[in-house]
Amino acid sequence: MSSAATSSVPASRRKRVVLLGATGSIGENTLRVLAAHRDKLELVGIAARANWEKLAAIARQFGVRHVGVFDDAAFAAARANAAAFPAGTRLVGGLAGLTELAQLPAADIVLVAVVGTTGLEPALAALAAGKDLALASKEILVLAGKFVMAEAKKRGAKLLPVDSEHNAVFQCLEGHPHAGVRRIVLTASGGAFRDWPAERLAHVTPADALKHPNWSMGPKITVDSATLANKGLELIEAQCLFGVRAEQCTAVLHPQSIVHCLVEFTDGAMLAQLCPPSMTFPIQHALLHPERAPGVDPALDFTRLLGLEFRPVDEGRFPMLRLAKETMAAGGVAPAIYNAANEVAVAAFLDGVIPFLAIPRVVEHTLSRVKNSEPSSVAAVLAVDAEARRTAAAQLGAAR
Ligand code: MG
Repeated sequence: MSSAATSSVPASRRKRVVLLGATGSIGENTLRVLAAHRDKLELVGIAARANWEKLAAIARQFGVRHVGVFDDAAFAAARANAAAFPAGTRLVGGLAGLTELAQLPAADIVLVAVVGTTGLEPALAALAAGKDLALASKEILVLAGKFVMAEAKKRGAKLLPVDSEHNAVFQCLEGHPHAGVRRIVLTASGGAFRDWPAERLAHVTPADALKHPNWSMGPKITVDSATLANKGLELIEAQCLFGVRAEQCTAVLHPQSIVHCLVEFTDGAMLAQLCPPSMTFPIQHALLHPERAPGVDPALDFTRLLGLEFRPVDEGRFPMLRLAKETMAAGGVAPAIYNAANEVAVAAFLDGVIPFLAIPRVVEHTLSRVKNSEPSSVAAVLAVDAEARRTAAAQLGAAR
């Protein structure tokens, strides 16, 4: 595990942060953490897909001088409105711009929270430049886990998970020898339809799927929470991040989203990590690691009743979890195929093209059609990703 590597930042100065994906839900929570810890953290670079107005506001608020806009038209608009940014701002565009920011000489740590596969190249570039990497984008490890882990190890860079469950596992594993770990259990809220009878699931609308009980997140991940594809992707990530076998990673339903993981050791003892369901907790942990400081949101309050419930996951009702486990066991590029097919299917569901229950059917079909192999390069994984997207898209008509 590369997490054992020591930080390269002297305690005497602030840790300098680049935030890729500054305008989304993770980005907003990260800005709250940064605003609360200006004595310890300095924002030096930001990027987003298209919302340059919001980037300009953030740049003014935090005095950021390096700004990236991924989308070409939005980048052109940002350049035409350069006066909205602080004087002397360097604006960069496209994937090359994001990759340049990830390698910014002035940065110590890069937080990658951009949606989809866009973050992959910048994440690898950050590690190659010896930066610590805080990872919020699931696709990076799901697609290119072995390459990312190898690069972090080679450069002695820290890889800090920002997703609440993996950040929780990271905290529970710290200081414990790897050989003593028997099982990693990730908790799942169960999403919007946890308590719905199976027959009602056939008539779920995109609006229903977007009502998550505990977390406020973007539309894709909220649908993934309802199908448990999100938990499936997280199991795949956990296997890669913590260097365990597929059968050592499992999930349990925990409706309250207070316990984020349980790590079981060979003697049967379990450690859990608890905090309220706000992303500011894992984000702050990742950015300040190994330091601790007062949190942005209130901690758990034991003067009020706090019930914690755990239930097994019914994989018959949540086929995306079963498919994720099969994907982990298969290895190779199967996780990339699972991820790509799921993205296509979820987008089609949100557009009203396929029903909710067709999402796992599209993914299962795609997994059976695209050939699995051991990838030799990131480019090879991306080629499979593209093939899986085509295969899934071709299946949408039949899945209606
Ligand atoms: Mg999560």
